[in-house]
Amino acid sequence: MKHLEQLSLAESKVLVRVDFNVPLKEGKVADDTRIQAALPTLQYILDQGASIILLSHLGRPQKDKNEDGSLKRDQFSLKAVADYLGTLVDASVHFCPENTGAIAREAVAQLEQGQILILENTRFQEGEKKGDEALAEEWASYADFYVNDAFGAAHRAHASTCTVANFFDGQHKAAGYLLHKEVSEGQKVLFDAQRPLLAIVGGAKVSDKILLLEQMVEKADMIIIGGGMAYTFIKAKGGAIGNSLVEEDKLDLALKILQKAIAEHTEIYLPVDSVVADEFAATAKTQNTASDQIPDGWMGLDIGPKAVQDFSKAISKAKTIIWNGPMGVFEFDAFNKGTFAMAKAIAEATQNGAYSLVGGGDSANAVNQSGLAASISHISTGGGAMLELLKGKTLPGIKALED
Ligand code: AMP
Repeated sequence: MKHLEQLSLAESKVLVRVDFNVPLKEGKVADDTRIQAALPTLQYILDQGASIILLSHLGRPQKDKNEDGSLKRDQFSLKAVADYLGTLVDASVHFCPENTGAIAREAVAQLEQGQILILENTRFQEGEKKGDEALAEEWASYADFYVNDAFGAAHRAHASTCTVANFFDGQHKAAGYLLHKEVSEGQKVLFDAQRPLLAIVGGAKVSDKILLLEQMVEKADMIIIGGGMAYTFIKAKGGAIGNSLVEEDKLDLALKILQKAIAEHTEIYLPVDSVVADEFAATAKTQNTASDQIPDGWMGLDIGPKAVQDFSKAISKAKTIIWNGPMGVFEFDAFNKGTFAMAKAIAEATQNGAYSLVGGGDSANAVNQSGLAASISHISTGGGAMLELLKGKTLPGIKALED
C-alpha cells in the first residue's frame, strides 16, 4: 500500500475518500474528531499545489427511504460539514449538492488549484453500498489520483471506499496519513506486540466479537471478557445469571473458546462479581452479587468491585493492551464504574510503559469522557474497522489500494 507522500500530486485533481460521518446537532457538527483526523492529509495535498474532491458518507439514509424510494434528505446532507471544514482550512471549500451527473461534473471542472470540493453524501446513491462499478467509474473520472483516508469505512467494500480504487493504477492511488497510521498501529499489535499481550473485550454481543476472541485466544496472553457478553460465558460454565443478557446459541462456542484458552495457556478473566439491577433502567434498584449467582429477576449491568480489582491488576501486568467494548451499560451513571475503571487502569499502565490501543466508539468515548485520552497510545477512529483488522483480516478498502 503506497503512502500519500509517494505520489506526484502537483497540479492534479485528487479524489479523497474521508470518513466525515460525524454527529450533527441542530444542523451543526457536534463532534469534529473525524474531521480533525483527516486534516493532515488534506493539508498535504493542498501544499502540493493540487485540488481536492472529497467523498464521504454521513449516517444511514438508506434505512428509512423517502416515500418515493429516493434517499436524499437534508438531515444527511454534507453541507453542514462543508461549512465547518471551511472554518478549519486555509482554502476555499465548495459544496456540491449532487455527487454524480452534470452538476457534479461541472463543479469538478470549475475547481481550481488549492481548492476543496465536497460532493454530497455518497450514500444518497443506491450503488454506493453495493460497490457499484459504474458509480465508481464515474467518481474515478473526476480525478487523476485516489487517496483513501477513511479508516472508519475501510472494512466496507463500497463504491467510494473500494471499487473506485480499481480504476487507478498503483502510481495513482495511496493511503492518507490517518489510514496509514491506523493500519500500522493495528499491525503493531498483531505482529509486533510486547508481551504480555492483553485483550479486553466487552459490549453487548458475543456474536460481534467471536472472530476477535478466536484470534486473541491464540495470540494474547490474557483476555478480559466484560460487559453483557460475559454472561454467556458465565452461563456456559454453569453459573446462574438471572435475567442477564445471554446468547443461548453461543453457549457451546463460549465453552469452546474457554477450552481453547486452556490449551493455548491464555488466561481468561471473567468478572467474579457484578452490579445487578432489577430492571434495565437508569433508576433501577441495584446490588452487588457473585456473577454466577445472580438471582432470577435481576440482571448484571456492570462488573462489580472485585472484578474491577482483578481486571485492573491484570492490566497493570500487561505490556500491550487492546480494548474494545464497555464493561457495562455505561450510558447509565449507575453502571459506568467498571468501564471508567478500565480506562483509568489502561491509562496508568500506559504511563508505566505499556502500549495501549483503544478501538470502538464506546470505549473511546469512555476514555475521552475520563479526560485520559492523552495517556492512551492510540485511540482508533474506526471501531468496526479496527476490530476487523485485529481479527487478522485484510480490509477491502486497503486491499483495493494494493491491487
Ligand atoms: P457493542 O456495540 O457490542 O460494543 O456493545 C455496546 C453496548 O453494550 C453498550 O451500549 C452497552 O450499554 C451495552 N452493554 C454493556 N454491558 C452490558 C450488560 N451487562 N447488559 C446489557 N448491555 C450491556
